[in-house]
Amino acid sequence: MSLEPIIIVHGGAWAIPDSLADGSVRGVQVAAKAGYDVLRIGRSAVDAVEVAIMSMEDDPVFDAGVGSVLNADGEVEMDAVIMNGSNLKSGAVACVQNIKNPISLARAVMEKTDHTLIVGKGANRFAQEVGAVVLPTDQLVTKTARKEWEELMKFRTTVTTLFSQRYPPTDHVNQGHDTVGVVALDTQGNIAFGTSTGGITAKRPGRVGDSPIIGAGGYADNMTGGVSTTGHGESIAKVCLASHINHLMERGMDPQTASETALSFMAVRVQGSGGVVVLNNCGNPGKYFTTERMAWAWIKDDILHYGLNPGEDFSENVH
Ligand code: ASP
Repeated sequence: MSLEPIIIVHGGAWAIPDSLADGSVRGVQVAAKAGYDVLRIGRSAVDAVEVAIMSMEDDPVFDAGVGSVLNADGEVEMDAVIMNGSNLKSGAVACVQNIKNPISLARAVMEKTDHTLIVGKGANRFAQEVGAVVLPTDQLVTKTARKEWEELMKFRTTVTTLFSQRYPPTDHVNQGHDTVGVVALDTQGNIAFGTSTGGITAKRPGRVGDSPIIGAGGYADNMTGGVSTTGHGESIAKVCLASHINHLMERGMDPQTASETALSFMAVRVQGSGGVVVLNNCGNPGKYFTTERMAWAWIKDDILHYGLNPGEDFSENVH
């Protein structure tokens, strides 16, 4: 039996400035359409997730691939993950540099190795083995990322004081930064998710956030549904946000209520903010964020829904 496919996409939950607002909304729409076209011709949820994430990794507006933010040393270090809900196989890379599309490398980890996560130099060596597209770092760094890094570092005395000045422990609102994520359900009823990020500006070199960690940065299981998360990585990891949502859906909660319940729990329990996009295995979507803004889009039955500010839900026909 062939099901109606659906794809849902986010472009990061944080205080997105007006200068990036239109670009972020456009970027998630383009990504959702690219992934939806893949699903409509009967290809897999994993293919759709990879295509949609690549579209946002190639878009300099987002903190993933080209446009990744810079760590305290002024370098790019990216994390990405993908998971196949039909067999719970997953693959992830962390702290990779010079890779054009970390999501494709994560997929290669899932499909070509017995591992779930490969980091740093080992991941770059693996990239060579599988022929991943490699770029000189300066082609991944945008003027915006460099400027933001320079501004932050101007006030830096130590990374610790920098972090506590800009991101007081009880206020993580600005810390999420245009990470991208996708969940898809294909015509065969298979669910997949992917998340890709450059992390947070001026992070310690070697810092890995929630994104490549299964259960935190996302989860996919055909038995329940799929989730991709964004926001303050350390908070998300502490509450295993994606698993939390999946468990709520397993107990019968709908995706929207599960998203709101889990993010409220994270706010109360660890004072963290963020956002999620969710599908259950019946093809119902949910999305929610506790930051100022999150660009999101989903498509089903050829209708595109999208928004950026709380409460927004615009729609239009895509064909
Ligand atoms: N969760 C990501 C991280 O902490 C950041 C984000 O979602 O924007 O690395």
